[in-house]
Amino acid sequence: MKLLFLVVSILLIWWALRLLRRPPLPGRKSEPRVENMVACHKCGLHIPENEAVSRNGRFYCSETHAREEER
Ligand SMILES: [Zn+2]
Repeated sequence: MKLLFLVVSILLIWWALRLLRRPPLPGRKSEPRVENMVACHKCGLHIPENEAVSRNGRFYCSETHAREEER
């Protein structure tokens, strides 16, 4: 039964290594990311770029301001 013991040991080691090597779960909270702040072209409010409304290369704080500026 030496072989069986060896196989079980290898499996256990492989399993342990797999657990250790498992990459951390992708979470947005763990990513320290600095948001690029942009100013609204209409009212000057500063908002993160990913939340800003982009129109003709300009940024706006909301869809409303983007639409008002288009007139
Ligand atoms: Zn605005």
